[in-house]
Amino acid sequence: MIICKTRDEISAAVAELRRQNKTLGFVPTMGALHNGHLSLVKKSMSENDCTAVSIFVNPTQFNNKHDLQTYPRTVDADVKLLEETGADIAFVPSVETMYPEGLDNVTESYDFGFIGQVMEGAARPGHFNGVGIVVHRLFDLVKPDRAYFGMKDFQQIAIIREMVRQCNINIEIIPCPIVREDDGLALSSRNTRLNEEQRRQAVQISQTLFKAVGLVGEKSVDEVKEFVISTVNSVPLLDVEYFEIVDGYSLQTIPSWNEAEWVVGCITVNVGDVRLIDNITLKK
Ligand code: AMP
Repeated sequence: MIICKTRDEISAAVAELRRQNKTLGFVPTMGALHNGHLSLVKKSMSENDCTAVSIFVNPTQFNNKHDLQTYPRTVDADVKLLEETGADIAFVPSVETMYPEGLDNVTESYDFGFIGQVMEGAARPGHFNGVGIVVHRLFDLVKPDRAYFGMKDFQQIAIIREMVRQCNINIEIIPCPIVREDDGLALSSRNTRLNEEQRRQAVQISQTLFKAVGLVGEKSVDEVKEFVISTVNSVPLLDVEYFEIVDGYSLQTIPSWNEAEWVVGCITVNVGDVRLIDNITLKK
């Protein structure tokens, strides 16, 4: 596996692959890698000649300083995992490499419209602009044929698709299923920040979402929404920030089950100072 740190190194590595006419898949990550990330890497490996993975904790997508400072960083272990998994390139840039102009002088600004204003967009001002900026810059450097994103960050996929559409970028965006622990908790780098009791209670997030699937049709959209929020909030250490039942394509909330072909329930829960997100397809 080639490890690239600078723009010149990643550009040279990619140019060499292109010279050999190889297809390239790309998995952008913020590191602290787990099996969720590795499922994306494996999918990319199965669909492309070569796979590049970036590890970069992107400051411009953090609207909360504490979250940025406490974000888990395990680069050495990450690189080892990628090597064992069989990735071809690890791109591990510094903040200066990604933002040579300095973080105070970053000027790109995206307007994703409605899909950028709801849920995570409303809860984390500037977050999706930062995601758009870094993913666009990474795409420019890596120039993959396909890029792989996890459905765990459901809204993020809609944002990336919109960015690719607005900027006319010729990269196929591939959504990948959520990987969960045996008890159902969605894998997340942030899970390592939960203490034992928080981790034990956090399982109720996914368990409640699974129960909600069984209520579709039998109960109204509002009743299911109320059920999920009150059930999760009844767990002492869990605090629901939002739960929305939306059209999976438009991200608009729906008044009734027949209003959309694909219906997704999206939740964000604060567990102490750890913010966990999850989602589930309620109808498709
Ligand atoms: P992150 O490092 O959290 O920015 O995540 C990098 C990529 O891995 C994103 O596309 C995430 O959606 C994806 N990802 C994170 N956790 C999971 C998971 N549990 N299952 C599937 N994909 C995931």
